Amino acid sequence: MRRWCEKSGNLQSAPCALRGPVHAKCGIIWGVRTILHVDLDAFFASAELTRHPEWRGRPVIVGSPPDGRGVVSTCSYEARRYGVRSAMPSRTAWRLCPHAVFTRPDIAFYREISRKAFGVFARHSPFVEAVSVDEAFLDITGTIHLYGGAEKLGEALREKVLRECGVTCSVGIARNRLLAKIGSELAKPDGLFTMPSDPAEIARFLAPKPVGILWGVGRKTAGILAKYGIATCRDLQNAPARQLETILGKAAASSLKNHALGISSDRVARDEDGEKSVSREHTFVCDETDRENVRSTLLELAADVGRSVRKEARWAATARIKLRDADFETVSRQTSLPAPSRDDRSFRDAALALFDGLWPESGKGLAVRLVGFGVSNFKASPGAEPSLFRDEEDAERERREKLSEAIDLLKGKGLNVGTGTAIAHRPNSTVAGTGESTSILPPSILT
Ligand SMILES: [Mg+2]
Repeated sequence: MRRWCEKSGNLQSAPCALRGPVHAKCGIIWGVRTILHVDLDAFFASAELTRHPEWRGRPVIVGSPPDGRGVVSTCSYEARRYGVRSAMPSRTAWRLCPHAVFTRPDIAFYREISRKAFGVFARHSPFVEAVSVDEAFLDITGTIHLYGGAEKLGEALREKVLRECGVTCSVGIARNRLLAKIGSELAKPDGLFTMPSDPAEIARFLAPKPVGILWGVGRKTAGILAKYGIATCRDLQNAPARQLETILGKAAASSLKNHALGISSDRVARDEDGEKSVSREHTFVCDETDRENVRSTLLELAADVGRSVRKEARWAATARIKLRDADFETVSRQTSLPAPSRDDRSFRDAALALFDGLWPESGKGLAVRLVGFGVSNFKASPGAEPSLFRDEEDAERERREKLSEAIDLLKGKGLNVGTGTAIAHRPNSTVAGTGESTSILPPSILT
């Protein structure tokens, strides 16, 4: 029987014996992985061009209409030339580029294209981690040899995404996730960039780059560092640890110093659940430090998941939440529901209990980039194990389900009730003005 070698990722008949620094059967250097970061270019705008070829060459802005209070979700590179950016008020975008095509996001349509693109990714590596709707990390250590080199694999992937989805993408290849993401950023748009692989060379490569190129360094952190004369990765590399700790705190100082040297995780979290889960996630435009805002976003996602589950005759037995921090590190927690359920109250209670565990009220200084909620372990019938109070429990469950279904019905008629309507209207949101979350990843890659 053939299986994936846990160490090298290669498909082979027997486990590899590790001898010295080189993996005997695979010829892979132990400990060095090859990570590919792929990012669909100006995704929502590019997706619109696949069905509106007449807009090609024109600035295209996807987001709220310019006469409203909403923001730009994505814009084409033509619009960027006029200074238009994501998360900018649509009104400002219109002032900068009045001849642009403005269009509202069509999440269902983007979801379809995203699903196809992730299908292509999955054909190039069994280790795919979705970062967002248009971004993923692939651990290609074990599949490089099928293509005769990492760059050839990257180019094959780019070519297939364009052919099958009609949109271009940029690819970064490196020994870890941080560097792969920097690589795809440097490759944009429609390119491929391979980062150096030797640690000393990596440090030299990063040295002149601005600190903003690193994860976790937003405008705010960059501003604080600038006050201390730290503007480039070289400044960070050379800064005394004590000084950085005083400025940023101990944990952030050490991770930032590592990042400036190109040191980061190479673990690509693979989704194990396949299509057996229903989940939604939301990416904040800026890292969110307000616990209450993350918590209420989570509740909206839970309500959205509930609506989706109730469309079919199935009841979930497990709930899970996911938080990704500013360093792109992801934590998730799951719990068994007291009984297989599909009502809002059960999902909400589970989500809150898990959230309080991960981010207690006393927890300060956290910055969250993404929050997600999902349910899995579906059953064909509701209810718990036989119990003395079964009738009462059944009646209570049915009452909750009926209430949730009534709310679904009202929402279907466009009435704003309960939770789950407002994520997209918040200022710190990647999708503006749609009433949907950014959860447009295919179920097979959502965790
Ligand atoms: Mg993108």
